[in-house]
Amino acid sequence: MLYEARLVLRSPAIVVERRTERGYVKPLGYIPGSTLRGAILDALRAEGVLSLDDLRREAESPSVLSSPAYPLVGGKRALPASPFAAYCRECGVVYDFAPVYARQGKLESIKCPVGRDHTLKPAYPGIVVYKRVAEGGVVVAEKAPIRTFRSTSVGVSKRRGAFERGMLFDYEAVAEGTEFWAYVWAPFDLPGRLEVTVGRGASRGFGWAELTLKAAGSAPFSASGLFVALSPLVPLKKASWGDCTLEVERVLGRTYRVLAGWDSFKRSPLPVVELVRQGALVEGRVSCNRDPRAGIPVRLGGYWLTGVNAVVPFGEYLRGGGVG
Ligand SMILES: [Zn+2]
Repeated sequence: MLYEARLVLRSPAIVVERRTERGYVKPLGYIPGSTLRGAILDALRAEGVLSLDDLRREAESPSVLSSPAYPLVGGKRALPASPFAAYCRECGVVYDFAPVYARQGKLESIKCPVGRDHTLKPAYPGIVVYKRVAEGGVVVAEKAPIRTFRSTSVGVSKRRGAFERGMLFDYEAVAEGTEFWAYVWAPFDLPGRLEVTVGRGASRGFGWAELTLKAAGSAPFSASGLFVALSPLVPLKKASWGDCTLEVERVLGRTYRVLAGWDSFKRSPLPVVELVRQGALVEGRVSCNRDPRAGIPVRLGGYWLTGVNAVVPFGEYLRGGGVG
């Protein structure tokens, strides 16, 4: 069953891209799918829905999946900007030319529709809230506002009950009250409400959140054409998971290298992988016995990578953002 999820932070959350020497900085502005998936699995374990054996099985063969969670801004779904999104300094908005590309199959130039001499800067990767469609099909958007604050915390040794040397760390946390939306998939019924903890510092009270899940159907899905990646994408010609297949002919997006995470059962670091940033445009075909919006896991180097390959048809992406 596919679920539409809504997450409300009840305490500040430290969700960051990478760990730096001084501490955790640079909040992501969204919650990675693998992070939300882990939080849901932990909560299901705490509620007694899943056993420790079930969790082990989830590491060996994932069945619960989650897309990244993006902010809800005034009830509107923020979305990853496309590679054709650009910020105009003079207009103070983001123009996303992806619909023009979708219609024409190409894009001649990216110019501000208001003033030809305006300065455009790439807005991809980024998270935006769609406002309206302007002349020529260009989408007008705003950078998704996210309330954060920065502070310095002192680590306390649990063993000695004293300040720990080298444990002083900076963090930038997403404010409590921030709301997010996501797609979650599970092969069994999920509770309508779960208390989860996301991100770092759970033992210090960070990242406490309330997750509500609304069933959104379980129909198989098959389509070809242009898709938008709601999550990072594994740059493979073909990704298969069960009866679910994503075949890629072309990807427009930027790649980055990332440590795939941490395996909590094998207690070992996961491999470094190359991914395409979310918001990427994908030409190809999806054939699935379920909905692909919560992602299609990929097995790499003996590990399952989750929170990747969450795709939606291009038209639905625009409607999801409230335009088109
Ligand atoms: Zn402009």
